[in-house]
Amino acid sequence: MRHRLSGIRARAISLLKKNDLFRAPVDVVALAERLGLTVVLEELDDDVSGLLMVKGGKAIIVVNAEHHPNRQRFTAAHELAHYALHNSGADHLFVDRKVFFRDEAAATGEDVQEIEANKFAAELLMPKALLGQALEDENIDLLDDFDVHRLARKFKVSEQALGFRLASLQLIS
Ligand SMILES: [Zn+2]
Repeated sequence: MRHRLSGIRARAISLLKKNDLFRAPVDVVALAERLGLTVVLEELDDDVSGLLMVKGGKAIIVVNAEHHPNRQRFTAAHELAHYALHNSGADHLFVDRKVFFRDEAAATGEDVQEIEANKFAAELLMPKALLGQALEDENIDLLDDFDVHRLARKFKVSEQALGFRLASLQLIS
């Protein structure tokens, strides 16, 4: 599991660099489009964050139009992960009823793909190197709530997602 997860970090960073999108805030829609996917906002049940439809070799990411833009970005990155990591090319529908920000949940059975997708989304939207650079360039104090808010705005992620990410990188406890 640990080995697979470290491969996911490398994969996310290489996709960003190869597509010249390695800067904050990461443009996840542009990345999806460069990979040939279409991203659309649609009205969905409130408990559905988004879905990935693969049909006839084409792929569409649908994101819940009613959700907060930061959450939509995380959902789009999560669906992009299913495309990049779990798509065999065969027709398939991935539906995500909730997207968690944690990547350390119990790794059992089919949850593995969800853990991987969340890990990929966090690596994509909040690359370690870009976070480190922002902490330095913008003189961010992670013990200061206002600074954490600024950092979340810079990366266009929720403070909750950022908090999980900083904890998982052991930048905060
Ligand atoms: Zn998923």
